[in-house]
Amino acid sequence: MQNLVMELREKRILTRDGFREILTTDKYDSSLFKSADEIRQSVYGKDVYIRGLIEFTNYCKNDCYYCGIRCSNKNAVRYRLTKEDILECCREGYELGFRTFVLQGGEDPYFTDERICDIVGSIRKEFPDCAITLSIGEKSYESYLAYYNAGANRFLLRHETAESDHYNKLHPECMKLEARKKCLFDLKKIGYQVGSGFMIGSPFQTIDNIISDLEFLHELQPDMIGIGPYIVHKETPFKEYESGSVEMTVKLIAILRHMFPYALIPATTALGTLHPEGREMGLRAGANVVMPNLSPRAYRKLYDLYENKLSTGEEAAQSRAALEKKVEAAGYRVVTAIGNVKR
Ligand code: SAH
Repeated sequence: MQNLVMELREKRILTRDGFREILTTDKYDSSLFKSADEIRQSVYGKDVYIRGLIEFTNYCKNDCYYCGIRCSNKNAVRYRLTKEDILECCREGYELGFRTFVLQGGEDPYFTDERICDIVGSIRKEFPDCAITLSIGEKSYESYLAYYNAGANRFLLRHETAESDHYNKLHPECMKLEARKKCLFDLKKIGYQVGSGFMIGSPFQTIDNIISDLEFLHELQPDMIGIGPYIVHKETPFKEYESGSVEMTVKLIAILRHMFPYALIPATTALGTLHPEGREMGLRAGANVVMPNLSPRAYRKLYDLYENKLSTGEEAAQSRAALEKKVEAAGYRVVTAIGNVKR
């Protein structure tokens, strides 16, 4: 194992067999985590960046089989924020020290390019010193370009899984892996800082699928990588499947830190949801970002991608002091810097 860790550190990639060995060994080996932490500290020190997450609509035209806000979930209570609501969230976030706002939502046709550009442009004007991150799904090159020109800097779009066979088991036929990958390369070409990622333990996922995810990320060279365990939601066709593993997620964070020393890697809400120490475990394995919730309180529970999704305690933007304590206890420190990628 130690030899593999050294090889991964040196080459930033392994053979499929090498990855398989690291991923399947059930012996806990601290060398992977120790090495990941060294790499992270050599690039980013002990800094942990905070991003204010604004979940601005849970309407979605897509029907991803794993997701609680899929259009077929007729029991979901839908909401959308107005531009003024969103700006209010940003104002509150700015006061709390956030310098990145992440606008995430379902693929909601109400938010036309014109409306997105209007929202992005208004945030850009009022908060010139902040980064604007969008996470609003698959769009055309022209649309992405328009948002960029309106002032957006970063875009999060997880590829979800990098093999078509598996992708097709998680999505209806009208959704295609190739289309999603094209979006990611379009975003890079335009000049966004691009984030991708995948779920760990989604139904039908194999170790080989995960290795393909790592290989795809190696090809993409993203600036940000979000991974989290799949978590069951009872209003989906996957309600009988089990949630993913916290240990596997943490191990993958450590592997990703070796592959992408400069990447911004969040300790995700899903990780914190499945394990009370999940966030801290993620940070110790190489993660350097946390994304507390900045949405208006009344709507937080409604953006339920999966069951029991955390939005209170340290996951609430308003609890920054509590979050700082936790991060410090894990050995790191929250910073309010804008936190661009250090390539
Ligand atoms: N519409 C946007 C945002 C999707 S929600 C887009 O298409 O990118 C953000 C992420 O939540 C998804 O990319 C997916 O990886 C994750 N997610 C959705 N359902 C989930 C579940 N049941 N468990 C864990 N993560 C989930």
